[in-house]
Amino acid sequence: MVISCWGALIRKLLMMKPKVVFVLGGPGAGKGTQCVKIVQKYGYTHLSAGDLLRSEQSKEGTQYGELIGSYIKEGKIVPVEITIKLIKKAMDEKMAQDAAKNTFLIDGFPRNTDNLNGWNKQMNDHADVKFVLFFDCSNEVCIQRCLERGKDSGRTDDNVQSLLKRIQTYMQSTKPIIDQYEKEGKVRRVDGAKSVDEVFVDVQKIFDSEN
Ligand code: UDP
Ligand code: MG
Repeated sequence: MVISCWGALIRKLLMMKPKVVFVLGGPGAGKGTQCVKIVQKYGYTHLSAGDLLRSEQSKEGTQYGELIGSYIKEGKIVPVEITIKLIKKAMDEKMAQDAAKNTFLIDGFPRNTDNLNGWNKQMNDHADVKFVLFFDCSNEVCIQRCLERGKDSGRTDDNVQSLLKRIQTYMQSTKPIIDQYEKEGKVRRVDGAKSVDEVFVDVQKIFDSEN
C-alpha cells in the first residue's frame, strides 16, 4: 500500500517535471520573434532571460538593478545566480498556476560556461532539456537587424557600440556552449537569415518531429 502510494507520487512528479528547450543564436538572430510563434502553435511558455533581467532591473528598490543595467549595456553576461533565480521563479509561478503548463522555451540562455554550470548544478534534477534550438545567422545580418530594432526598441544595447560588444561576447562565450551541445547531439539548427515565415517553416519541422 505504502509502496504503491510512493509509486504514484513518483509517477506524478516525473510527469510534471518541466521540459525545456533552450533557444540560442546571436543578438537579433530571431529568437524572440520565433518564440512568439512557437508559443502560439505549440503552447510552450516563453521565458526570455534578457526580458526577465530587464524587468528585474526596472523594479523599484531591487538589489541588482544597477549591476544588471551596466552588464546589459556592456554586452556582458550577468552572474548566473541572478539569472537562474529569475528563470526558476518564472517557471515555478507558471506551474503553480497550471501544473499542465510544463513546457518552456528558455530564450537567450545559457550564454556562457558560468550559465551552463549554474543550470546543471541547480536545475538538472528539476527540469529536462529536450534540445537546443539554434538560430544560425551571420554577424552582419544580426547587427543590421538590431540597429533597425533600435530605432524604436528603447533598449540601451541596440546601438553600434553595445552591439559590437554583444557580438564579441556571443562569439567568445555563447558559441562554444552551442558547440558543446552539438557534440551531445542536442542542437537543432535553423538558418536564421531567412524571412520570419520561412524560418518558422523550418522551426515547425523541428517541433513536429520532436513532439
Ligand atoms: N543577458 C545575460 N544573461 C542571460 C540573458 C541575457 O546577462 O542569460 C544580458 C546580456 O547582457 C545580453 C542582454 O541581457 O547582452 C540582452 O539579452 P537578450 O537575450 O535580451 O538579447 P537578444 O539576444 O535577444 O538580442
Ligand atoms: Mg531577444
